[in-house]
Amino acid sequence: MSAKISLLPDHVANQIAAGEVIQRPASVVKELLENAVDAQATHIQLVIKNAGKTLVQVIDNGQGMSNTDLRLAFERHATSKINVAEDLFALTTKGFRGEALASIAAIAHVETHTRTEEDEVSHCLKIEGSKVIDQSLSTQPQGTSIAVKSLFYNIPARRNFLKSDQVELRHVIDEFHRVVLAHPEIRFQFFNNGSELFDLPLSAVKKRIASVFGNKWETQLVPVEEKTSLAEIKGFAVKPEFAKKTRGQQFFFVNNRFIKSPFLNHAVSAAFEGLLRPGYHPGYFLYLTVDPKTIDINIHPTKTEVKFEEEQNLYAILRAAVKHSLGIFQVMPTLDFEQNTSMDVPYAFKDKQAVPPPIEIDSSFNPFANETSSRAPSIKKDPQWEGLYSGLQEEEIPSVSPPQESLLTVSESPKVFQLFAKYIVCPLKTHMLVIDQVRAHQRILYERFLSAITHKKGVSQQLLFPMELELNPQQLEQYTHIEGALEMLGFQIVVEKNKMSIKGAPDHFPTSKIENVIESLLSASSEESSEAHFSHADQVAKTMARSLAIKSGALLDSREQQALLDDFFGCKETTVSPFNRQIFITLEKTEIEQKLN
Ligand code: ADP
Ligand code: MG
Repeated sequence: MSAKISLLPDHVANQIAAGEVIQRPASVVKELLENAVDAQATHIQLVIKNAGKTLVQVIDNGQGMSNTDLRLAFERHATSKINVAEDLFALTTKGFRGEALASIAAIAHVETHTRTEEDEVSHCLKIEGSKVIDQSLSTQPQGTSIAVKSLFYNIPARRNFLKSDQVELRHVIDEFHRVVLAHPEIRFQFFNNGSELFDLPLSAVKKRIASVFGNKWETQLVPVEEKTSLAEIKGFAVKPEFAKKTRGQQFFFVNNRFIKSPFLNHAVSAAFEGLLRPGYHPGYFLYLTVDPKTIDINIHPTKTEVKFEEEQNLYAILRAAVKHSLGIFQVMPTLDFEQNTSMDVPYAFKDKQAVPPPIEIDSSFNPFANETSSRAPSIKKDPQWEGLYSGLQEEEIPSVSPPQESLLTVSESPKVFQLFAKYIVCPLKTHMLVIDQVRAHQRILYERFLSAITHKKGVSQQLLFPMELELNPQQLEQYTHIEGALEMLGFQIVVEKNKMSIKGAPDHFPTSKIENVIESLLSASSEESSEAHFSHADQVAKTMARSLAIKSGALLDSREQQALLDDFFGCKETTVSPFNRQIFITLEKTEIEQKLN
């Protein structure tokens, strides 16, 4: 009888291994982010398209890889993080199994650019289904960019198993939260379909929590601190009255790695006993530091489960620490916890500047860069509130077409004009841009609103006559989610029972639009996962952009056309609107010449 057993070819073994490590786009996000962290990056960008189904790209400014390492990185069991089995018990890195990249490359199209400090050029490697299809030199700065496209393209069963974009995005965001909360010393940015969902500057833990979940969180946390020979515990518990019905805000980190532990969760729940209403769950962000020798992370391929040597003792310590913190807070609720310097940025990171991204992402490619550089001064880098709403007041929009000569006399500006009261046409040297005015304006407003909500508070102006609105229960519920965002924008709103009165609005905000905007914000998809706090900022910015952008059919004079164009050039993303619609098309000179041949 001939032998029945044969060794699986590598690419088949890799596909099987991939099944364990990579379940969905979020798994790719986790592995790539962790590799970037392990590479000691100080700035990491995550770019995804269609919730990661079409693209997951992570760009870091870390150590990079040499050409040889680049090839090896995609081999199974290739890792730079451990050498001998003993190393497993002194882990300081996220990765160590050396199988993530090999797994990912087995089931997707992967393009990597990487460059070390010593190298003068970057190296590029393209792999599809474990096969190297191209290897070349490129010119990227130090760091690594890995783009994973068409996930599961060769495993239809897996691909079909994926959930809707909304659900997959939720998973991606969950993974993102876990990494960014473990590493507040790193700057993270996250773009989905051209929308910036997060831009998190390096900060202390508490600030990082607030920038992820919303500024009001800063006042909802009590610090937890305990140091014993077994473990050091730091972090925050959410005050009982802000507890949620979902378990979305439960985070344990052990030696900076997010872990799931029903056992430790039980310890924290025990500390909250008697303080929560039925059906509510405690919220916490707890960072445990233990001797790596006393834990085993090796028990699950995704490394989110940990076994502790002295579980029972850890349980007791944790429960006592949380109970103590909640107790102090109960007795002295006004105690100022802001002075909690122990959770500040680790010293080593204090003087580090976040370095600009080493590698340009395609999606932010600015097709105007060359043509506009000669008149660059008109590009607004840091848009002010003034003029934010210019062009919004109906009365500002002229009812007749701009006189033609105005276009000819402005010699400095390019000869832009409006077409069909719908498009702005911008002729350049070798091609012509036809820009959708509505989508371009939505993009401009969206980026400004989002930046106001997440970074700088907007200036507020008192209304002469406060406006009153009556809210139904759904609207009231929705209001609790967007309250913070509205305040950051400059709205002054008081809600009593089911009555809302709007006392102030952002400076320059057209009064006639206030009621409409607030109403559309309150009816805005409350069905959209209400725990997704990021999405409330994003959602508010989108809804505002949609309601306030100029409409199709609005005639713009040449000054307004120019302003729109300038603002548009200053956007971080120019290809798609916040609603993922293409903003402009290009018409090549050669195309026109061919047609007229
Ligand atoms: P692991 O992280 O378990 O070592 P991976 O398959 O995730 O395994 O990565 C393999 C190796 O590739 C890593 O050990 C590391 O040396 C290298 N590598 C992966 N991603 C990066 C990155 N972003 N920057 C530098 N090196 C990287
Ligand atoms: Mg890894």
